[in-house]
Amino acid sequence: YSRTGEGMHRFTDPADGRTYVYTQLFLDDVQRVFAAFDQPDLKAVFELAVTAPEDWTVLANSVTEHTGDGVWKAAPTPPISTYLVAVAAGPWHSVRTEHRGLPFGIHCRRSLAPHLDADADELLDITRACFDRYHEKFEEPYPFDSYDQAFVPEFNAGAMENPGLVTFRDEFVYRSAVTDTERQTRARVVAHEMAHMWFGDLVTLTWWDDIWLNESFAEYMGYQILTEATRFTDTWTNFGVAGKAWGYDADQRPSTHPVAPGDVEDTASALLNFDGISYAKGASALRQLVAWLGEKDFLAGINIHFQRHKFANATLADFIDSLAAATDRDVHAWADAWLRTTG
Ligand SMILES: [Zn+2]
Repeated sequence: YSRTGEGMHRFTDPADGRTYVYTQLFLDDVQRVFAAFDQPDLKAVFELAVTAPEDWTVLANSVTEHTGDGVWKAAPTPPISTYLVAVAAGPWHSVRTEHRGLPFGIHCRRSLAPHLDADADELLDITRACFDRYHEKFEEPYPFDSYDQAFVPEFNAGAMENPGLVTFRDEFVYRSAVTDTERQTRARVVAHEMAHMWFGDLVTLTWWDDIWLNESFAEYMGYQILTEATRFTDTWTNFGVAGKAWGYDADQRPSTHPVAPGDVEDTASALLNFDGISYAKGASALRQLVAWLGEKDFLAGINIHFQRHKFANATLADFIDSLAAATDRDVHAWADAWLRTTG
């Protein structure tokens, strides 16, 4: 167990003494939980069995079943990367529903139950609206068998796009009055992580030099889907004020790098690139690309990309080739100018 959010995080709630564990195996922390050849392009089917205290609920990437004697079994996953395997176990408070025939759930530690319940309708409405909108844009259906969103304690990032079991920092379960901008931010994170179900989880980067393929895309889609499908219709204004400034700031520093760097030697170097370039500048570049190609051709290219590489891996070159198949415009030259340069 860890207390740093790396590997299997274990937390005892000071409010009531109850204990919870959850995995965070990104980017190369699977080694802390089980042995694996840990590369994003080595996908496998995972079939988990978890032994836990009787009063716990065990969540995983796929639907879990309590088979007795404290043993929980998770249905076999489709082929996924090692960094995306997830388990969250504890005496969770859960709100469950079903959408399009799939089980949906939101979960938090019990001491936060009244606060999750107060926002459950809002969270599930946003989840359903985004889910439906992605299905209007993407030809490939949602690739997993359930959609759980767990708000977990002491999370060391914003959220993590584990297939079928997205984890969020539980500060997103608001315990007092918040501004509407905070609600918009939370909704955007919901939409961002859901975009990863296709871009990141279904089609995964071959190596960590292409994290922008995950993050720029999810960031762009998070803003766009929220604008189209929810009451938060002015999210691009928020991006213009805060998002782009983050990108400009990162791009003026000596530590700047291309949106799509050519050379990332190891995972420690890759981790340095989770910054305003990979998220904000990359999302801004994609937004420009959509305006230039037109959304129809952009989505056609995206759908070709999913069709070609689903349950497998892809690189920048593959992504650009997929887009090029859907347009007459020179997307290779665009990528060289906007993704391969700094400044
Ligand atoms: Zn992301």
